[in-house]
Amino acid sequence: MPRKHTQSVQVGNITMGGAAPIVVQSMTNTDTEDAIRTAAQVADLARAGSELVRITVNTVAAAQAVPEIRERLLKMDVDVPLVGDFHFNGHKLLSSVPECAEALAKYRINPGNVGRGSKRDEQFSQMIEIAIKNNKPVRIGANWGSLDQDLLARMLDENAAAEHPKPLDYINREAVITSALESAARANELGLGKDKIIISCKMSRVQDLVQVYETLASRSDYCLHLGLTEAGMGSKGIVASTAALAVLLQQGIGDTIRISLTPEPNGDRTREVIVGQEILQTMGMRSFTPMVTACPGCGRTSSTYFQELADRIQTYLRDSMPDWKAKHPGVEDMSVAVMGCVVNGPGESKHANIGISLPGTGERPTAPVYIDGEKSVTLKGDHIAEEFQGIVQQYVESHYTVS
Ligand code: SF4
Repeated sequence: MPRKHTQSVQVGNITMGGAAPIVVQSMTNTDTEDAIRTAAQVADLARAGSELVRITVNTVAAAQAVPEIRERLLKMDVDVPLVGDFHFNGHKLLSSVPECAEALAKYRINPGNVGRGSKRDEQFSQMIEIAIKNNKPVRIGANWGSLDQDLLARMLDENAAAEHPKPLDYINREAVITSALESAARANELGLGKDKIIISCKMSRVQDLVQVYETLASRSDYCLHLGLTEAGMGSKGIVASTAALAVLLQQGIGDTIRISLTPEPNGDRTREVIVGQEILQTMGMRSFTPMVTACPGCGRTSSTYFQELADRIQTYLRDSMPDWKAKHPGVEDMSVAVMGCVVNGPGESKHANIGISLPGTGERPTAPVYIDGEKSVTLKGDHIAEEFQGIVQQYVESHYTVS
């Protein structure tokens, strides 16, 4: 699955596009005016693996909070590039709070929300000029939910006058693409290089998103930010995002991804980062954390022990990664299998770096452990989970430690 060639763009300490790995990014949902809470959430997202974090910049107070957020993060040893999300008043905020323009690593501009009529061009130009002055890249982020209404009206009129008018859905998709590409061309004319422009065209329906990005990728080589907008909650949001992104990523389309999940009430915002990483890792495009293979369970095992063990090991691996990253390079490629019975247990365990096959109904209460395809020990008794976790830890230390 070769990646489609795109222009590479430097965003702070992160490279996107070109031959760079596909970048996982996320967005906060705190009030940016609250610098303490926003910095804390950015840090959580970054520690979960978000390589860029976007924050809303919607008021003067929010713009003024940005440098403080940056300073707080640096004090916490979190050097993640911050992206400012601007709508309606971005031109005013970036000009009146130059420290905000300086502290951000990238500006997101929505061409549908930059202003209407004659003001649109002027306000858009103002933001691009500030980006040029500060040597910052810009994401031109068109969104189906906030489409440039003047452009849409123009395209609908042209379509109505055409000899063979196209369906409305087609015109809507074309309008989102045209909005992004015309805005990028305008930014380019103003002096912002292609190596400073990222494009996104977010849609909320899977088939629309796939068609829009296939078209975008065929018409330009801009660095592309992928994401299904308003993906929704829980499994629906995850499934819809995965379905859309997998089709595009498999075609080599997409340089950075964001999963727009609606968190459950009091849910963890870092979920969107983990889902983004898991999409890339399960597709074999990047590795972030060792993955656990577990069987779904069936009538051959009435025990939920293997499910609990699989969950415990996956949590242990993920929680250990921030520490392991520096100490145990390559550990992110390790695979661990936790299986429910003898049917597929030994086979799947042998394919993993470390695997355990727990006893199914009627089997002897023993759990053989396989290391690099060979049976190593057989665990039994009340401490199988602790002992297996210890074996995983030993394996990490012996196989992924640079001497
Ligand atoms: S490994 Fe055993 S318990 Fe797990 S799904 Fe297969 S048959 Fe069922």
